[in-house]
Amino acid sequence: MEGSSIRIENGKLAVPDNPVIPFIEGDGTGRDIWKASVRIFDEAVKSIFRGNKQVVWKEVLAGEKSFKASGNWLPEETIAAFREYLVGIKGPLTTPVGEGMRSLNVALRQELDLYTCYRPVRYFNGVPSPVRNPENVNMHIFRENTEDIYAGIEFMNGTPEAEKVKRFLMTEMGVKNIRFPGTSSIGIKPVSVEGTERLVRRAIIFALERNLPSVTLVHKGNIMKFTEGAFMKWGYALAEREFGDKVFTWNQHRQIIRKDGEKAADDSLSDAAASGKLIIKDVIADSFLQQILTRPAEYSVIATLNLNGDYISDALAAIVGGIGIAPGANINFETGHAIFEATHGTAPRYADQDKVNPGSVIISGALMFEYIGWNEVAGKIYSGLEKTIKNRLVTYDFHRLMDNATLLKTSEFADAVISNI
Ligand code: NAP
Repeated sequence: MEGSSIRIENGKLAVPDNPVIPFIEGDGTGRDIWKASVRIFDEAVKSIFRGNKQVVWKEVLAGEKSFKASGNWLPEETIAAFREYLVGIKGPLTTPVGEGMRSLNVALRQELDLYTCYRPVRYFNGVPSPVRNPENVNMHIFRENTEDIYAGIEFMNGTPEAEKVKRFLMTEMGVKNIRFPGTSSIGIKPVSVEGTERLVRRAIIFALERNLPSVTLVHKGNIMKFTEGAFMKWGYALAEREFGDKVFTWNQHRQIIRKDGEKAADDSLSDAAASGKLIIKDVIADSFLQQILTRPAEYSVIATLNLNGDYISDALAAIVGGIGIAPGANINFETGHAIFEATHGTAPRYADQDKVNPGSVIISGALMFEYIGWNEVAGKIYSGLEKTIKNRLVTYDFHRLMDNATLLKTSEFADAVISNI
C-alpha cells in the first residue's frame, strides 16, 4: 500500500490515514522482538480502525544488518527517512566497539536534535517487582538528551588536547583544584539556557495537558552550581515567566518564607495545589533516588539533565519490572521528529532464540501511537499486554520471578497479547 508522510503543521502533527513509519528492526534479539511487536501493532490498529487506517511500515537499516549489507553502520538514507517521515521506531542496536565510533543511538539523537528522552514509568498489574507497592510509581521522565557531560567533549590524559585544556585552565583560569594534573583526563559539561528551557517547557506542557499534579526538577545543584544549579534556576524562571498563574513554584514558596514566614508560604502552596495549579518543585538527585523507593507517590513529571536522567530511568524501570518492559522515546517537539525505542540492548546471547521479552518495543509502540494521536490503538495495546501478564503468561525474565506462571516464547507472548486485543 502507498502511504504518506506525517507532517507538522502550525506546530501540530498532521497524520494521514496511511502514515509511512520507518522502522529499524534492531540487532540480536531485536529481530525476534520486532517480528512479535509489529503483529501486535497491526492487530491493534485493525481492531480500532477496521481497515480505514493502517500503518505502512518502511524498513530502514542501521547496525549490524546495515553493516553487512553496505559496510555502513548508519547510512545517510536511514537518517533521511527519519527526517522525512518524522516519526519512527527502532529496536536495539549493537554499538560497534572501536576508537572514535559513536553510538548509533546517540548519532540519531544528535542528527535529528531529539532533545527530549521521554520515559514513562508505570506499573502493569502482575509484573514481578522488588518493592512492596510498585503501583505507587507513576512517573514521566523528561531527560535532556543533547547536553551535559554526555555531549562527548572529553580529552584523554596524555593527548596534546588534554594537556592544552589543562594548561589553559591552570594558567589562564587560575584553576588550582585538579587533584592530579599530570594524569587527569578532562570532560566538559555544557548546560545552556535554551537547552534547559526547551526541556522544562515541554515537561510543563505535558503535565498541564494531562492535569498532572507536579513537575520536579531533579538536579545536583548543591555541588555543580553553575550547571545543575542553573538548570533548576532557569527552570523555575521559565515556569514563572511562561506559565504564570497556571503554576506555583517552590521558588515562589521560598520567597514567601523570606517575606512572610513559613506558615504563609505553606498556606500559599496548599491553596495553589487545591485550586489545581501545577506545582513546580525541585529535589537533589541523590535524595530523589532514595525517595523513589520510600515516597514515590509524591512524584509525577520529572525534568532532569542527561546523566541524572540515565540513572533515574533505569532505577525506576527496575522498580516496575525491569528492562524487558521499559519503553522510551526521543523527541523534538518543535520539528515533530520522534524515534521510539527499546531501552535495553541487543542481549546478543539470546539472539534468534525466540526467548526475550518484547514488552519494551511493544510499549514504545503504544507511546508512538499516543504521540500521533491514535490513543485508542495505544489503549488496546496496553490492555492486551496487561491482561496477558495478569493471566501469568510471560517470557523467561518474568517467569523466573513469578510463581505458577506459564513460560512463553517471544512469538507466543505476542499471540497471547493479540488474543487479548
Ligand atoms: P543488554 O543487551 O540490555 O542485555 C543485558 C541483560 O538485560 C540481558 O542479558 C538480559 O538479562 C536483560 N535483557 C535485555 N533485553 C531483554 C529483554 N528484551 N527481555 C528480557 N531481558 C532482557 O545489555 P548489554 O549486554 O550490555 O549490551 C548488548 C549490546 O546492546 C551492546 O552492543 C550495547 O552497546 C547495545 N545496547 C544498545 C542499546 C540500544 O540500542 N538502545 C541500549 C543498551 C545497549 P538476563 O540475562 O539477566 O536475563
